Amino acid sequence: MTTTEGVIKYQLDYTPTPPLPHEQVREINAWRKIMYLLQLIGQHPDRYGGYGFGNISRRIDGPCFVISGTQTGHLPELTAAHYATVVACDPAQNRLIGEGPIRPSSESLTHGTVYALDAGVQWVIHAHSPHIWRHAEALGLPLTAADVPYGSPELAVEVERLFRDTEVAALGIFAMGGHEDGIIAFGRTADEAGGVMLTYLSRAFQLDT
Ligand SMILES: [Zn+2]
Repeated sequence: MTTTEGVIKYQLDYTPTPPLPHEQVREINAWRKIMYLLQLIGQHPDRYGGYGFGNISRRIDGPCFVISGTQTGHLPELTAAHYATVVACDPAQNRLIGEGPIRPSSESLTHGTVYALDAGVQWVIHAHSPHIWRHAEALGLPLTAADVPYGSPELAVEVERLFRDTEVAALGIFAMGGHEDGIIAFGRTADEAGGVMLTYLSRAFQLDT
C-alpha cells in the first residue's frame, strides 16, 4: 500500500492482451452508445474539468468483468479494442489487476465492489447525471456519504453499508454523495441495469419541471 498525503494510491497491475471477440462486446457496446448519446457517459470541456466520465461493465465469471477502457469518454463509438478485463480487484487497498488492449479505469473498483456484494448482479453502469443526482433524495435513492470521495477505500465500505441497511439491492440504483453527479445502476441483465437508469432519468426530468 502506497500512501500519499493520507490518500491511498490506486495501484493497477496491467497486462496488455488482444481484444475480446467482437460478439462479446456487442451488447455492452450498444448500451454504452445509449449512455453516450444521453451524455451519461462522455467527456465535455465544461464538465468535471474536461475529464472523461462514466463507464459500463458486465460480469464474465466470479470477480472477473469486462469494462469500458480508461480515457474513452470522448469517443462516440467504441470497438472491442476499447474494452478491458478486470481479473481481480481489492477495493480496500485500491488495487486492481487488469488485462486487455486498454487499461481499465480506477472507477472499476466501484463496479468490482457491487459485483462482490451481490452474486446475482451481471451488469453495472456508472453514469454522471446532474438530473438524477440533484433529485436523489426526492427520488428515494440510497446515497453514499458526501464526505466519502470517489476512489477511496471508504467508498467500498459505504456501498457495503447501502447493501446492508437499504433497499438498494431491490432498487438496482444508488447515488454517490461525494462524487458529483455520480450514479450507479446495476442488474441481472443489461436491459435491467439500463432500464433502471432510464426510468430514474425520466422521473428526474419530471421533477425538473
Ligand atoms: Zn464517475
